[in-house]
Amino acid sequence: MNARRRRNPLPTRPRVAIVGANFAGLRAAQGLGPEFDVTVFDPSPWFEWLPNIHELVSGVKRPADLRLPRKRLVAAAGHRFVRDAVTAIDAKRGTLATAAGVAHEFDYCIVAVGGVEETYGVRGVERHALPFKSVEQCAAIGRRLATLLQGRAPRSIVIVGGGFAGVEALGEILRRYRSRANLALHVVEAGPRLMAGVSPKVDAAVRKHVRPYAVRIHAGVPVAAITPAAVRLQSGERIRSDLTIWAGGGVAPPLLHAAKLAPKPRQWAPVDATLRSRRHHNVFVIGDAAALPRPVPKQAFHALEMGECAAANVRRAAAGRALRPYRPSRTPMLVAFGDLDTFLVAGRSVVANPALAAGKEAVFQVTMAQIDPPSSVQALGGLASRVIGVTRRLAPSK
Ligand SMILES: Cc1cc2nc3c(=O)[nH]c(=O)nc-3n(C[C@H](O)[C@H](O)[C@H](O)COP(=O)(O)OP(=O)(O)OC[C@H]3O[C@@H](n4cnc5c(N)ncnc54)[C@H](O)[C@@H]3O)c2cc1C
Repeated sequence: MNARRRRNPLPTRPRVAIVGANFAGLRAAQGLGPEFDVTVFDPSPWFEWLPNIHELVSGVKRPADLRLPRKRLVAAAGHRFVRDAVTAIDAKRGTLATAAGVAHEFDYCIVAVGGVEETYGVRGVERHALPFKSVEQCAAIGRRLATLLQGRAPRSIVIVGGGFAGVEALGEILRRYRSRANLALHVVEAGPRLMAGVSPKVDAAVRKHVRPYAVRIHAGVPVAAITPAAVRLQSGERIRSDLTIWAGGGVAPPLLHAAKLAPKPRQWAPVDATLRSRRHHNVFVIGDAAALPRPVPKQAFHALEMGECAAANVRRAAAGRALRPYRPSRTPMLVAFGDLDTFLVAGRSVVANPALAAGKEAVFQVTMAQIDPPSSVQALGGLASRVIGVTRRLAPSK
């Protein structure tokens, strides 16, 4: 053994801080080995499978179907999980601070904080509308709907936002409650039609499916305000509402600008093709939070791929090797419309078929098993019971 090794038997491991541990951040953590000293921060204890949270509204899925414990997943990857929100990142100094007052040093930081609810400055959203962005929020909507629709009093439900989340919310309410004669449903969308970014076929198919029911779609009319019992439109119309669901999309969280990763508030953080921050070379920004040179849709699959790419690039940077660009796969999106239809959206082309629901379920089950590979008979049993339980609830009722 030489003298140098005797003085320092364990070479220092590069310190990596990962901020946010859902799709992008968790996959990055899983891509880094024991040669790194990795700490993962997230205020929530659960990894959440967001692409299927609409199913909590109808009760087809339960919160436990869509959640995995972060602490266990991060520990299985050999790293440390800190249940805390990061409030500041100083990339120049290589430090971050958390809400609980913890100060932490890093050599590399991977920022995977996703987005926050976009309210467009509409009055009353936070106080009087239920958001549609997490397991807890969608489960709360499901509970509120069940209570509201217990009796026979006429009920009016308004969904604000006719993007994929709003369409999926509408489909789940119809799946469970479409036979109720006392239910009126409204979807309000500022754009010219439902899911305006994709082929008009989706809008046409949804309108056809809802024709037998008391559903009104108000497209091209922005919302002016939300009050406790109504949604007011900029056109002057007032829609009575017993429950307002806000599915208005996402915007960049304040941390990105505060950490000088984004030039302006509400902007996603610009990165180069290797996912490295354009402003700080020791920071990678991945998943929904990143603004790529060639934008990709904000989808879970891309977030997972970016997590893998960032982990590989941290390994390369630490070894003094050249970084590799992120090359997104072409991935279609499956948008469910309850049990009435499912749309496979690939760019501008759309295929509609209720049988595609099985494909969406398969993607969910397979990817959850990849994120949390069953490592024991008990874990395998847990996976099996999740699949069986969900399959039973998905089966059409006789
Ligand atoms: C209703 C809905 C339906 C969707 N349907 C689909 C679909 O069908 N298919 C699809 O591909 N995609 C879908 N998406 C999009 C997909 O969920 C996102 O693209 C994906 O979640 C992005 O992953 P992410 O890891 O970048 O961010 P997120 O999943 O948003 O995770 C961000 C994480 O960062 C944490 N965090 C935030 N701030 C901090 C902080 N300051 N400190 C520490 N941690 C922090 C959060 O707690 C969270 O865990 C849907 C999204 C929603 C909301």
